Amino acid sequence: MRTLAWLRADLRVRDNRTLSRACAGAQEMTPVFVLDPRLLGDRELPRVRFLLEGLRALRRDLESRGSSLLVRHGQPHRVLRELVAETGAERVVWSREAGPWASRRDERVRIALDKEGARVQTVKDRVIFESGEVLNGEGRPYAVYTPYRNAWLRRWEEAPEYEERAPRFPPPIPGCRSDELPTVSVRAGLPPAGEAAARRRLFRFLDRSVARYAEDRDYPALDATSRLSAHLRFGMISARTCIGAALDLAETEPGAAAGARKWVDELIWREFYHAVLAAHPHVTRRAWRREFDAVRWEQDDAGFAAWCEGRTGYPIVDAGMRQLRETGWMHNRARMIAASFLSKDLLIDWRRGERFFFESLVDGDPASNNGGWQWAASTGADAQPFFRIFNPTSQAEKFDPDGEYVRRWVPELSRIAGVAIHRPWDAPLLAPEYPAPIVDHAERREEALRRYRAARQGSRDG
Ligand SMILES: Cc1cc2nc3c(=O)[nH]c(=O)nc-3n(C[C@H](O)[C@H](O)[C@H](O)COP(=O)(O)OP(=O)(O)OC[C@H]3O[C@@H](n4cnc5c(N)ncnc54)[C@H](O)[C@@H]3O)c2cc1C
Repeated sequence: MRTLAWLRADLRVRDNRTLSRACAGAQEMTPVFVLDPRLLGDRELPRVRFLLEGLRALRRDLESRGSSLLVRHGQPHRVLRELVAETGAERVVWSREAGPWASRRDERVRIALDKEGARVQTVKDRVIFESGEVLNGEGRPYAVYTPYRNAWLRRWEEAPEYEERAPRFPPPIPGCRSDELPTVSVRAGLPPAGEAAARRRLFRFLDRSVARYAEDRDYPALDATSRLSAHLRFGMISARTCIGAALDLAETEPGAAAGARKWVDELIWREFYHAVLAAHPHVTRRAWRREFDAVRWEQDDAGFAAWCEGRTGYPIVDAGMRQLRETGWMHNRARMIAASFLSKDLLIDWRRGERFFFESLVDGDPASNNGGWQWAASTGADAQPFFRIFNPTSQAEKFDPDGEYVRRWVPELSRIAGVAIHRPWDAPLLAPEYPAPIVDHAERREEALRRYRAARQGSRDG
């Protein structure tokens, strides 16, 4: 049988269920990647550069195994239909993806392929357990993380999902023309893309850092987390490989067990947010807690620009935003503080921040980004309660106690020693170029509480 494997966020050869399924029973099989102009957008974006570098690595890996990677520009439903007509492929395989945008795209492809008489097979690959596989006692999706995690781990123990070896690749369908992969210059700050780089990073992290992960993960100055988010986002490594390796380590190395289990918990947050998106696709446009759609937001374009550019006058917020702009990645603690600041201090609609993060992050992922934003804005499933509002200064003093993170990203403040760096308004002569705070946190906190309460009250009255 002639088969096409349509790869999207599964850019690896090992433990890749799209490829395994496509190889099974195929005499000829061609892996395809469609460069959708909407997906490609601005080639300077970190996410796009990382993707293109990853595609180049994948093509090398496939070629070394006697296969190939066919790349075509265009909209997926057009490209795949043309390819089926051109090659006479009888079957197209891809992995399922949550979210309204992905569902619409896949449905259009399915309809187009149906017209050509090609069979579609979809597989689970993006997450370990799909939304319908981890349900509460009433058979409904969980709305709270901890019971979800417990049920998830029970599910894994009862029926673990095993890592699959790379398949034996049948030869590619002959005579197919591939478009060129666009070239981009390597950008400083981005991690190396591709499966080999992802696996090296995973095993180095498990070897050297995971044992201290539970203690160190919240300190943005430390290099204590895996930095695998972009690789996971594009499927350059599978979540199965990561969780399987971490749980094996927890079994065999008592000293690393607590850290490895904590790391697995974070990967289960990823699964949780994918399940939330699959079960509640409205979250891409609206609050998961619908009453908070009524929060009155500020337009404040000047405040938004200051936030984006890292000049709010709150050092920890500015450090995070500058790390994002310069490297395409931001530490999780800084993401939480920056997102809370936008929604609760600037009172700007979290969706504007979500879009900015999505565009700027190398790991920008519709499910995790939406989940993170709705958590910080208190509008999401198992979110931070709205009355618990981060104070950016005390967060900074707790999680960047020597000011090292801020000093690295906000050099105008480097003359202020130690923890005092987080209160530059007390030492204006040492940092004359640094802006004064654009809002007063205490005042904005009260205003945020008023607005969230009003939204909640309105929904009860209405
Ligand atoms: C406002 C906001 C936006 C975010 N946007 C994204 C995003 O677009 N893409 C993204 O992958 N993560 C996002 N996160 C989650 C988290 O910040 C990153 O996954 C993490 O910082 C990536 O670094 P790491 O790979 O070193 O993580 P590690 O600490 O090593 O964690 C391992 C993996 O677990 C997953 N993970 C960890 N924390 C979370 C979490 N809170 N939610 C979901 N998955 C998690 C990631 O895949 C990560 O690579 C966001 C968090 C917030 C608060």
